[in-house]
Amino acid sequence: QAEIVAIPPHQGERPHFFLILFRDRTAELRIERMRTDFVANASHELRTPLASLTGFIETLQGPARNDAAARDRFLRIMREQAARMSRLIDDLLSLSRIEMKRHMPVATSADLVAVLNKVRSQLTPLAAELGVTIDFSPPAEAFVVAGDEDELIQVFSNLVENACKYGESGKRVEMELSRNRERGERVIDASVRDFGPGIPAEHVPRLTERFYRVDVGSSRAKHGTGLGLSIVRNILLRHRSRLLVVSRIGEGSVFTARFPDPGQESA
Ligand code: ADP
Repeated sequence: QAEIVAIPPHQGERPHFFLILFRDRTAELRIERMRTDFVANASHELRTPLASLTGFIETLQGPARNDAAARDRFLRIMREQAARMSRLIDDLLSLSRIEMKRHMPVATSADLVAVLNKVRSQLTPLAAELGVTIDFSPPAEAFVVAGDEDELIQVFSNLVENACKYGESGKRVEMELSRNRERGERVIDASVRDFGPGIPAEHVPRLTERFYRVDVGSSRAKHGTGLGLSIVRNILLRHRSRLLVVSRIGEGSVFTARFPDPGQESA
């Protein structure tokens, strides 16, 4: 969309010409649109469990007042709805914190071997509940990147949690570290692989959008908020890292975070 700015001559002057400026507002409007969509989506996501909570409260005050069995069942559902709101608020806060410091360079370094070891210990109980094992053979050498350890733990927890939840049927999740080259530059790749159903190709480019889900029902059932990969993307941006996704239907998915290898100067 172009904006037309017409500058008329000064008063009393004979009109000789008009200066017409075109300013491209497409990018500006797109960002504005994304912001309003985000607020609308976030409100909608919060409103759904809230409506359900209100409904159950009314039922408990009215028809189910003296029904002990119904009360227990309703209270259990209400707890689950409250937990869902709480997860959503936690993720919204994480996302806003990370977006705020997205352009601040990271001043610390982190060893991805330690990061992945911690993620494996943290998520082993969840994986065990789902009947999934998390494999990681820590390499002998260090894989140090310019990074914030807590943020990187959040990245790989999200990826491993998704791999366990959505790739549950594959029974196994693998984490791997390797050094590679991309256009002559040395890079460090940290990947999370699952052997689940895979993701249809048309969804892959949109996975890191806020609230984007391949299957809303399954995300909800698995306690998803639709914000996990968007948090991952924003943390990785700050680490000058990219997320690469390769997925094959029926075979599984590999999510790889590709970092610049700071070791390259000395190599
Ligand atoms: P959610 O909170 O819903 O898990 P994410 O942003 O983490 O949100 O992921 C977005 C969507 O991408 C998920 O809802 C799911 O449909 C899909 N997805 C993510 N990881 C995988 C995976 N390893 N295998 C299959 N689908 C996945």
